[in-house]
Amino acid sequence: MQIKNRNVKKFIEAGKAFFTVRNKETGNRFSYRVFRAGKTHLGKIPPWFVWTRGSNGKYIYVGTIFEKKGFVTTSKSKVTEKDIRFQAFKWLYANAKKLPAKVEVFHEGKCCRCGKALTDPVSIEKGIGPICEKNYGWYWKGGSV
Ligand SMILES: [Zn+2]
Repeated sequence: MQIKNRNVKKFIEAGKAFFTVRNKETGNRFSYRVFRAGKTHLGKIPPWFVWTRGSNGKYIYVGTIFEKKGFVTTSKSKVTEKDIRFQAFKWLYANAKKLPAKVEVFHEGKCCRCGKALTDPVSIEKGIGPICEKNYGWYWKGGSV
């Protein structure tokens, strides 16, 4: 299910986001999962950890989004910052609030905040379950993403 472009940033930052981004013009697409660290992580504002899904279906750790540094690789990253999978996410995150129409983001039927499978068609359309939507303080305009 496609996430409306205006909601992409919120979706990515929700806590357990699984999604695929596609460039309609080039046909390039990448799948990511972005999990937020627990609130106690290092006693600071929790960062987000970013993985990409490889062709074998397994996830590869790409890097971390820090509040001040932004998206960077860390010592555990399996790719370099020159890798297209790193660069594609860096671009997506930087432009998430103003994505061009050629870029589409699709969720995988899992709640972006808790990662559980969505079953209610209304939730599937939104990409978030009703309880998480309430807790996240995220009220979709018009009831759909
Ligand atoms: Zn949820």
